[in-house]
Amino acid sequence: MSSSDPLSPLCEDINRECIGCNQCVDHCPMLQKVGADPIELVSGEPPVAIAYTCSLCGLCEAVCPSNLSLKKLFTATREYAVETSHIAINEYRYMFPDRPVNVLSLYRELCGLRYDDLSLNEESSVAFFPGCTLLTYSPELVRGVFSKLKSSTEELTLIDNCCSLPLHQLGLKSRGEKYINDLKGKLEKLKIETLIFSCPNCYYQLLPALKETGIRPITIFEALENTDVLAQPLEKNKGIKVTIHDSCPDRFERIFASEARKALRQKGFDIDEMEHSQNLTVCCGSGGQVTHFDPDLAEQMVTNRLDEAVNTGAQVLTANCLACVLNFGKQTRPIKLQHILNLLLDIDQDFTGVKAKSKMIFAGPEGEKNWERIMAEEDKPE
Ligand code: SF4
Ligand code: SF4
Repeated sequence: MSSSDPLSPLCEDINRECIGCNQCVDHCPMLQKVGADPIELVSGEPPVAIAYTCSLCGLCEAVCPSNLSLKKLFTATREYAVETSHIAINEYRYMFPDRPVNVLSLYRELCGLRYDDLSLNEESSVAFFPGCTLLTYSPELVRGVFSKLKSSTEELTLIDNCCSLPLHQLGLKSRGEKYINDLKGKLEKLKIETLIFSCPNCYYQLLPALKETGIRPITIFEALENTDVLAQPLEKNKGIKVTIHDSCPDRFERIFASEARKALRQKGFDIDEMEHSQNLTVCCGSGGQVTHFDPDLAEQMVTNRLDEAVNTGAQVLTANCLACVLNFGKQTRPIKLQHILNLLLDIDQDFTGVKAKSKMIFAGPEGEKNWERIMAEEDKPE
């Protein structure tokens, strides 16, 4: 890489500080698969193809004795690839959340999912931000949570935006920044003072922008403390062992990890830990949109994680992020799969095969028309 390359400072750090201990490789199925060595990675051309198979999970950063981050290197490489047209990113426009129609908004439209009756995007001091995945695949949880929150909050609105994460993950940096700026403007216009997050990805993605405003971000667990949800354990939960898949963006702060464990205990569940949890949690296989770039690797990650979960002997595998739950639902195992809000609100749902079923919107002649609609016009480059 040339010295004028925007990746150079990151490459120089790795060249200078890497002690070749291989901890990052030992913990990462992707680095093992591509046979990557950090020093070699930064010695040649920017590793564009490898960058798009990184799940951006940050585990390499957590285990590196020199505090190096391949996640940062691969994020910057993705941005470089988009800027220099080293990747045809427009081929992936079906998942851009800032387009009028994308795969999730189309799915909601075709399923007739609307939230207009939940004070949607209205002026209010308190707002619930469920994130795209929950809005799309679990209206039951969105409505269940909203109703509980409403019981303790006079003013409450539902915000139906994406957090912008897919844009940033794909390397569309300026587009992602614009999306966040527009969202910030919207929240300020609606006079939001407190924003309630159920998804760790959304929480950490918007945290820096919210710090520039007076808006206070809180977790769903903190918000539910003011309702009757966590007031007492349920008799039927006693003796049920749950294992928790922690979210990658929470690995350093561990806010969701600790509050989730506390809430589950308050509801009467026992907790069994997997081999990798909290700061050493591993990706579910959907991080960094890796399912779109290396589906085999993504599938292997699902297998590895489900093996760990089953090995705990727990009856239930749960997660704070519905994208992780849906990804685990691609395989059938002798362990029940539930989002943490299913357990806390006592709303049972079956997430097995939901992702495969959702792809049916692209099946047959109608499906072809849906695909054409999503991919209708090309986007201008960044
Ligand atoms: S961020 Fe995760 S997938 Fe990417 S290199 Fe690090 S450990 Fe591997
Ligand atoms: S863990 Fe850090 S120091 Fe060790 S090989 Fe990886 S990048 Fe180098």
